[in-house]
Amino acid sequence: MEFSLIDRIRRRAATRDDVVLGIGDDAALLRPPRGQELVVSADALNAGVHFPPDTGAADIGWKALAVNLSDLAAMGATPAWVTLSLSLPQADAGWLDAFLDGFLALAAQHRVALVGGDTTRGPLSIGVTALGFVPPGAALQRGGAQPGDEVWITGVPGEAAVALAQWRRGEAMQPGLRARLDRPTPRIAAGLALRGRAHACIDVSDGLAADLGHVLAASGVGASLELVRLPRTAVLDALPDETRWHHQLGGGDDYELCFTAAPAQRDAITQALAGCDTPAQVIGRIDAAPGLRLRDPQGVLWQLPQRGWDHFAGAPA
Ligand code: ADP
Ligand code: MG
Repeated sequence: MEFSLIDRIRRRAATRDDVVLGIGDDAALLRPPRGQELVVSADALNAGVHFPPDTGAADIGWKALAVNLSDLAAMGATPAWVTLSLSLPQADAGWLDAFLDGFLALAAQHRVALVGGDTTRGPLSIGVTALGFVPPGAALQRGGAQPGDEVWITGVPGEAAVALAQWRRGEAMQPGLRARLDRPTPRIAAGLALRGRAHACIDVSDGLAADLGHVLAASGVGASLELVRLPRTAVLDALPDETRWHHQLGGGDDYELCFTAAPAQRDAITQALAGCDTPAQVIGRIDAAPGLRLRDPQGVLWQLPQRGWDHFAGAPA
C-alpha cells in the first residue's frame, strides 16, 4: 500500500539546494552549512492523546510539524529539513492529501524540506524529526537562567487549554478557539531574535508552570510570577480568576516561548520581538531560591492544583 502513498508525498514535497538526495532512496543526503551546529528534535503525535480524534487531517498535518518546529524555535535554530513517519489505519489517499495540505503549508512558510520518512499501517500516529542549524555556542538552552533575570512569555498561553476543556465537556468550541488548539504558530523568528539575548528558553507544550519548572530545575534557580501580568484575551478575561490561572499556567498546546533574560536586555528584546510580530511580556523574575512562586493580585501565594500534562500520570483533572 505504501508505495503509492509515498509517491504522493514525494510529488508534493518541496526541496532545497542543500538537499543532495531527498525522498526515494534508502536515506537522504543533506549538506549542512559549514561551521554550523546541527540541531535535531523529534516529537510524535498520537490520535486522542495529542489531538482530539475528530481533528481534521489538514490540522493534524499542521500541528505535527508545528510542534517540532517549536522545539527548534526554543533552541534558537533555523529549521531546514524534516522527516515524517506515518502510521495509518488504512491507505486513504484523500486523508493523506489533506494531511499534506496542512503539513506542507507550514513547511513552505519556513522553507523546510521534507526529505524522507516511513509509511506503515497501524493506529494513527505521526512522528516527525526536525533538523536545523545554529552558530556554534548560540543555541538557547534550558540551563542558563540566572537570579535577577526577568521571565518572559510570548503570545497568550491558555486559549488552547480553554478550547480543549470545551471539547472535553462536549461543548461546541467558541469560534476561533479551535485554531488555538489545532494550528499553533511555531515562534521561529522569535527564537532567532533571542539568540545572544535570552539566557534560557523553552517552548510551552505541557503548560507554562511545568515547562518553566524544567528551566528552573536545569538552571538550579527558582522564580516568582505575578499572576496579574499573565497575558489575557477576551476569551481568558471572561473566566473566573482561578479557572483562568489554571488554563494560563497548566494548559499545554500553546507552543509559546518562555525565556529569561537580564533586565538590561528588556528594550532590545521588546524591539527585536516587535520586529518579528511576536507579542511578549515580562511575567516575573528568576530568584536564587528554588521553586516556583505564584502571586495573586494581592501578593498572596497561590498554588496551581496540578502542574502540566504527564503522559504516564494521565490528564489533569
Ligand atoms: P525503506 O524500505 O528503505 O525504508 P521506504 O519504502 O520506507 O524505504 O521509503 C522509500 C523512500 O520514501 C525513502 O526515501 C523514505 O525516506 C521515503 N518515505 C517513506 N515514507 C515517507 C513519508 N511518510 N514521508 C516522506 N518520505 C517518506
Ligand atoms: Mg522505510
